[in-house]
Amino acid sequence: MQHLWSPWRSDYINRALAPSGCVFCELASGQLDDAATFVLLRAEFNFVVLNRYPYTSGHVMVVPNEHIATLEAAGEEVAAEMFRLTRLAEKNLRALYKPGGINLGMNIGESAGAGVADHIHMHVLPRWTGDVNFMTSVGGTRVLPEDLQKSYEKLKPAFQ
Ligand SMILES: [Zn+2]
Repeated sequence: MQHLWSPWRSDYINRALAPSGCVFCELASGQLDDAATFVLLRAEFNFVVLNRYPYTSGHVMVVPNEHIATLEAAGEEVAAEMFRLTRLAEKNLRALYKPGGINLGMNIGESAGAGVADHIHMHVLPRWTGDVNFMTSVGGTRVLPEDLQKSYEKLKPAFQ
């Protein structure tokens, strides 16, 4: 089922935000407006943000503030908090989206399909039976910005 993993390939890339640097570092800096960039939560070492190019509604990512390319490079506290936030995302997505299942995962390195290869991030997304077929039929069509705004308004209170 390679479709299941195709979203990792078309990752969180926003060249408008990051003409030269790392988009996750820009988001981590806190210099951008959280609502405009769909940042849902800032914890001590990580933040949670909606994927701008979601594979399904409610596709979020847990991202360390630190620019690290491997999970191994994350300190214990960073990694522990990352996992805690992943669990929180799982809980919130389950409560708000009532999915049939949840995918979570990371692509570490370009060959694994990471769009932003040198700054790790954990994808968490709700899944429904048949959504793969749906996405296949619309072939590359992205979820509309209004939907992203709706996702943000829905999820934001749950992450507070
Ligand atoms: Zn970075």
